[in-house]
Amino acid sequence: MDAEIAIIGGTGSFDPGLLEDSRTVAVETPYGPPSDTITLGSFRGRKLALLPRHGRTHTIPPHAINFRANIWALKSLGVGRIISPSAVGSLQEAKRPGDLVFVDQFIDRTHGRPATFYDGGRVCHVSVADPVCPDLRARALDAARALPHHATGTYVCVQGPRFSTRAESRVFRSWGADVIGMTLVPEAVLAREAEVCYLPIATVTDWDVWKETAVTIDDVLATMKANATRLRGLLADLIPSLPAERACLCKDALKSAFV
Ligand SMILES: [Zn+2]
Repeated sequence: MDAEIAIIGGTGSFDPGLLEDSRTVAVETPYGPPSDTITLGSFRGRKLALLPRHGRTHTIPPHAINFRANIWALKSLGVGRIISPSAVGSLQEAKRPGDLVFVDQFIDRTHGRPATFYDGGRVCHVSVADPVCPDLRARALDAARALPHHATGTYVCVQGPRFSTRAESRVFRSWGADVIGMTLVPEAVLAREAEVCYLPIATVTDWDVWKETAVTIDDVLATMKANATRLRGLLADLIPSLPAERACLCKDALKSAFV
């Protein structure tokens, strides 16, 4: 096993400099290459894998991410848990820029993204009624006690790369969605198919377009910087607290999924 826990995120969510004995590996997959090479190393006694979702130089747009290759590559390295921070817009007044949202549900508005490892041969209907690992969630909430956060939330995943119209944003609000982003689906679904525990952490950077608020790029950059600092603290607490063995049901997600 090369790694037990993976972080899929942008620069800023975890500093690779914190890893001991770090090395990078290029992983081949049946689905083509992952977003980038994967950095492996130890952090407080745990074996981590870091994968930049959009590539190291942020060149891969959300709709072009090879999600299957990313999840397959991490699984092939031995990863049993994926922590997945991402920046989102807020659709509700209570979720403010700078807050962390531990989203526990999603609404899928993406299209054309390969979203299963079972494209033929075997028909797999995996359950994503609760798409987030309950054990990882509980431990992350514990680690986030002192941070501005929300324990639940619904993430509407849009196709992008464009942002929403005001009409779309109003519709998503009326559906009860809390935050909006472009990457949770199919990442969460593929992690479940791979029987890997999955924890998204949404960091709010802005108000999307429903709110008539002037947002400057300086505001957004300052918020992103503050979010990255909070996230690093959270991950530093959370990662060493995870037990070596997984007691949740994620590892058996496919037991009753095949026709
Ligand atoms: Zn789990």
